[in-house]
Amino acid sequence: MKKKKLIVIIIAGIIILGIIFLAFNLTKDLFFKDKNPIVNKTDEQILEEKGVNFVSRENFLTEANTLLDKGYTADEINNIYEYMSENNIEKILNSDYVDLKDFYQISNFDFTKLDRYLAYQTLENIDMKDAVTRVNLNLDEPFYQTIEEIEDPSSITVLVNKSHALPSDYVPDDLVSIPSFPNLQIRDDAVDDFENLIAAAKLDNVYLIPYSTYRSYDYQERLYNGYLEDDPKDVVDTYSARPGHSEHQTGLALDIRSSSHWSNLTDSDYEWMLNNSYKYGFIVRYPKDNSTITGYKEEPWHIRYVGKEHAQKIHELNITFDEYYDLYLTKY
Ligand SMILES: [Zn+2]
Repeated sequence: MKKKKLIVIIIAGIIILGIIFLAFNLTKDLFFKDKNPIVNKTDEQILEEKGVNFVSRENFLTEANTLLDKGYTADEINNIYEYMSENNIEKILNSDYVDLKDFYQISNFDFTKLDRYLAYQTLENIDMKDAVTRVNLNLDEPFYQTIEEIEDPSSITVLVNKSHALPSDYVPDDLVSIPSFPNLQIRDDAVDDFENLIAAAKLDNVYLIPYSTYRSYDYQERLYNGYLEDDPKDVVDTYSARPGHSEHQTGLALDIRSSSHWSNLTDSDYEWMLNNSYKYGFIVRYPKDNSTITGYKEEPWHIRYVGKEHAQKIHELNITFDEYYDLYLTKY
């Protein structure tokens, strides 16, 4: 009898404990919720779970969510923040979704010119990298169609071409006579290097004579108009700059002849120039086979001062100054 009673008590005890345990579990959230809140995920964690790498910048969370809403994938967002310039990011945030995969690796990409890049790349069937540089140089348009006035005409690395014009009243304020050719003037910054260039050439039996250096806007105008008396405009444009578009107005360009020629370099002197001028800060500005970029046929005689550092890089890269300017001297 005693044993039976004990078993009943034990079973009842187990049942009661079970009920208490269940009741506790069902009601504990009601009583303990405030003490043990469920941790909310941060916006940053939510983005990271989607695969977006957090970038430490103001408004990143808002921007990333904006891009997600526009339809960009996490990978695309990561690429945008890894490769795109600040200017481009701002424009991307203010536009509809665009597939940018061809452009992440292109340092001189400008989002506002996207349609022109795509059209020009299709038309010319060239690498997108080249299409970007050429469109940036307005080469998808006829020459002289888009013209920007140069803001810093006295810069040693100023780009003067058919879409970059010098102000008509620009005259360099540091023009000096070349000591060995006192009738000719160039910028003071270039004169010592030029004297060193012709001295070095002489040591290699190359005798270089400058014959046209600084030219004013008015002088260039007379020159260009003079050519128009002999040739139609489209022909003159292949060999003479319109006023405001001549590098000679910068005081950094020189036309050089060989002592044995009245207006050009001999082949061997040109070869010397191509191989050595960069050591003194000069480049051959209108090289062979680049007329589609420069807009001029080959001009062996025309050299331009850009300083030693840039001249060396341009020589190594073997590109035109127009391309170099867009790729290395322009902020995108
Ligand atoms: Zn020239």
